[in-house]
Amino acid sequence: MTLIVLAGPAGVGKGSLVNWILTNDSRFTLSVSATTRPPRQGEVDGVHYQFIERAEFQALIAGNQMLEWAVVHGHNYYGTPLNELTRAEASDKHLLLEIDLQGARQVKKRIPQAISIFVQPPSWEVLESRLRQRETETDAEIQTRLETAKAEMAAAHEFDYQVINDDLVQTGLEIIKIATDPERET
Ligand code: 5GP
Repeated sequence: MTLIVLAGPAGVGKGSLVNWILTNDSRFTLSVSATTRPPRQGEVDGVHYQFIERAEFQALIAGNQMLEWAVVHGHNYYGTPLNELTRAEASDKHLLLEIDLQGARQVKKRIPQAISIFVQPPSWEVLESRLRQRETETDAEIQTRLETAKAEMAAAHEFDYQVINDDLVQTGLEIIKIATDPERET
């Protein structure tokens, strides 16, 4: 099993990339994060996230049940439950983690052989317009995400690989190639 950490600014299309990879390559599985953020329309508990209360999240941290966790965009907790790792190991699949920069750093520290990939937008303008088109967030939330995006993009060089998401299929294939490359030295 390979652990693949995918990070990159909100609006860069990580979610679509992950969906494309999962639909097109059965060797991959997605780590379902826990979060205290309320579900958006269409999000299903246990599929997109495990939506849990703050107290429950804090209990998971206290019980060392989290591979990594972070407070993202200022107030909500997000984290990868350790049992997602166990599940992927049992199914012998590559585990995709779609997490933020803080989480990516923690995973790399704990599991150095994990492959970290930073997804870049084709340009800042494209990112900004994608974020504004989502219409799932308020103006203030979009502003916070843009600020977080700037900070995250400044740390892209810390990652093992960087890919530019200018085409869903090409970028999806590129990530699969990186994750499954037998020549890679870890
Ligand atoms: P959203 O609220 O838009 O679903 O996600 C906001 C941010 O939280 C995204 O940048 C996403 O990558 C990050 N995120 C999602 N799950 C996790 C997680 O398990 N751990 C960490 N550290 N960040 C996460």
